[in-house]
Amino acid sequence: MFTKNHIWKLFYILVIAGFFFFTFLLTNAYKEITQRHHSELRYATNIISNLITSEFQEDDMLLSFIAKEISLHGISSKNKRYIVSMIDNFLVHNPKMVGFVLLNKDTDFILSNHKVSQKLLHFLDDTSEATAKKNFQLALHSKKMILGKVYYSKKLQKWILPLQKSIRDVDDKVIAVMLVGLKIDNSARLSRIYAEKKRYIAVLKDFNLFDQLSLEYYSKPDADLYKLYTQPLNKQNISKVAKSIEKKYGYTLNDLRENEQTISYEMQNREGNDLIFALKYNQAYRYWVLIEGSKEGVLSEFFKVLYRYIAVFVVVTFILYLLFKKIVSDEENKKAELIYQTEHDSFTKLPNRTYLYKHIEEWEKRYPQGYYIFYIDLDNFKYINDKYGHTFGDKIIIEVAKRLQQHCFSSEMLVRQGGDEFLILKPIENLEEITKYLESLIDEEHKEYKINNQKFRISFSIGVVKCPKNVKTIDELLSMADIAMYDAKKRKNSYSFYDEELQRDVLLKADIEQELRGAIKNNEIWIVYQPQIYANNQKIYGVEALVRWENKRLGFVGPDKFISVAEKSGLIVELGEYIFRKSLEEIAALKSELGVDFRLSINISVAQFMQKEFLKRCLKIINEYEFDKKSLTFEVTESMMIEQTDKVLPILNAIKEEGIEISMDDFGTGYSSLSTLHALPIDELKIDKSFIDVILSDTKEELLVESIINIGKNFNMKTLAEGVEDLQQLQKLQELSCDIIQGYYFSKPLKIAALKEYIQER
Ligand code: C2E
Ligand code: CA
Ligand code: CA
Repeated sequence: MFTKNHIWKLFYILVIAGFFFFTFLLTNAYKEITQRHHSELRYATNIISNLITSEFQEDDMLLSFIAKEISLHGISSKNKRYIVSMIDNFLVHNPKMVGFVLLNKDTDFILSNHKVSQKLLHFLDDTSEATAKKNFQLALHSKKMILGKVYYSKKLQKWILPLQKSIRDVDDKVIAVMLVGLKIDNSARLSRIYAEKKRYIAVLKDFNLFDQLSLEYYSKPDADLYKLYTQPLNKQNISKVAKSIEKKYGYTLNDLRENEQTISYEMQNREGNDLIFALKYNQAYRYWVLIEGSKEGVLSEFFKVLYRYIAVFVVVTFILYLLFKKIVSDEENKKAELIYQTEHDSFTKLPNRTYLYKHIEEWEKRYPQGYYIFYIDLDNFKYINDKYGHTFGDKIIIEVAKRLQQHCFSSEMLVRQGGDEFLILKPIENLEEITKYLESLIDEEHKEYKINNQKFRISFSIGVVKCPKNVKTIDELLSMADIAMYDAKKRKNSYSFYDEELQRDVLLKADIEQELRGAIKNNEIWIVYQPQIYANNQKIYGVEALVRWENKRLGFVGPDKFISVAEKSGLIVELGEYIFRKSLEEIAALKSELGVDFRLSINISVAQFMQKEFLKRCLKIINEYEFDKKSLTFEVTESMMIEQTDKVLPILNAIKEEGIEISMDDFGTGYSSLSTLHALPIDELKIDKSFIDVILSDTKEELLVESIINIGKNFNMKTLAEGVEDLQQLQKLQELSCDIIQGYYFSKPLKIAALKEYIQER
């Protein structure tokens, strides 16, 4: 099963993965946008470059036209006037041109337009000597117009781009070179095209001999043109740009000069703004066009995408979060449900032992003054289960649980310990309150139940243990409460407080069980016989066999102590058979020795009785000693007979058929009804000693004994009174016409040898 942590971990992993995925998409989007901007800028650069070139071509053509005129007329002094007037005329029609000078091959002045003095020549001085000369050389060797270095004309208050072009005769020999100034502010129309887009056009002239680049034109309105035009560009910057281009395209600046490719790159300007540049060289006029665009467009476009992606990411994450929250809460609920199931009993819905063990510590902490444990056990529940079936039994458990629950306060902990056992943990109160509580609990549970239209009552035995300070473990406490419960069970429908004596009793029982295992083998067991005497003639009727045990370690242990232990541990089967065999053997021998006949009564306990083939085994032993079955009586307790009537009845009948008599031992203590009594094949009622003890002091008891005797008579049963200790009791019983008397008055239980003497004396 996934834990909460696992699930959240998965969520975080997904969120992080999602984050990376979105980052990946964003970087792609960013790249795509920048690339688009770059190619747009390159495209624009191409167009601008073409525009500029076509303008230069136009100028070139005009100059070619003039050159042709001059070459046609020659530059002899008589033609000079004509040339000057033609040029003046030409300049009037081409206002972007200012000044015109003709020089011969050796840079000697030939003529100029008459408006402008020779001073026009000063462009030669303004530009560096070497550059000017180089340009002049270029003009001499080229048919194309050559661009010079831009300079500022103070007179015109304009930036002027000097142009040079050679004039050749028919033989293609240079006869002169013309110099023309070009006002470059006209090109401002170019800047207007791109101004809105924050793009600026720069024209750079490349005087490559000196590895120098100078600005010839820059469209940015607020630029410091004087500085820009007059100083060559920073070499470091140029090499930086060159490097970045080479890195991106693998071209040097020279390569670009040759292939005229338009390239773009990014760089920060002096103010630290990110800019995109596109660059293209024009071979014909040897200039570079550089377009500078801001990256703002890229960023604003990117931010739009970014916001969209963030929104999607946030929404997706949120949905995912809700989904996971749901999964976690479902999982938690499932877990809680599971924990609830393991900690609660499925059909009473009460907390179970697992719950108790898990929560006892915290419960103890809540009640530091201590608490009581009530160990509650239903009386005779096994009997109900056997008689009415398990589903019925379950219904009772549920009903009982309901009543317990209603009886409990919230401060108490009610637990189904298992089967028909419940626990109540109750914070300490004074003894009086606790006693009241217990009594009301017992009363409440003893009220009538109605299940499947059957009415009946259930009683409880409750063991109580007080846990003052948590000095004992819960297991120890529970076993103490259990001991007390067993003590209460002896009375039923009552409670018992745990004390040391009970504990000793338990320990003793453990000792008894241990020692009893070797008792037969070690010859520690013997049988005594208590005579049973006819009440009227005081002749001997029979004897009851009673077992005795003396152990090396434990000393003499009475059967009232060890028989129950033997029953619980199963040892009774072996022990019972031993007693049966031994008493048959001894009595058979005694009878034949003395030549008298009397009955032998043997106590049979439940476990023995319920044993498979019990009767068959008895008969085998009877045959072995050739014992007269008809002089044999089985004593079975009343409680056993009424609690398990259905199971007991067929066995009783089988016994009866064999001619063995059946005596109902301890009669009067088990509340058997007349109808059950009638249904059972009983030969003898053995009136319990507790009635005989009080027969003289209590007329009520006397009446009771009288009615028992009458019932016996009516049902054709013999009546036997046990525990008769004195003459008055005997006389009273004779008066009530009880049949047989057993008790110390006649004799204590006797060893076989003493019994022989007793019989001989009679
Ligand atoms: P029980 O069958 O009711 O036996 C009668 C008990 O009363 C015997 O105690 C007997 O010694 C005692 N008793 C007889 N007359 C008097 C009297 O006048 N005054 C007094 N105070 N007591 C008298 P015991 O032998 O200690 O046996 C106790 C119980 O142990 C028996 O009660 C019986 O339930 C069980 N028990 C004894 N021997 C056997 C046995 O061999 N097998 C089985 N299954 N149970 C046995
Ligand atoms: Ca008996
Ligand atoms: Ca008895």
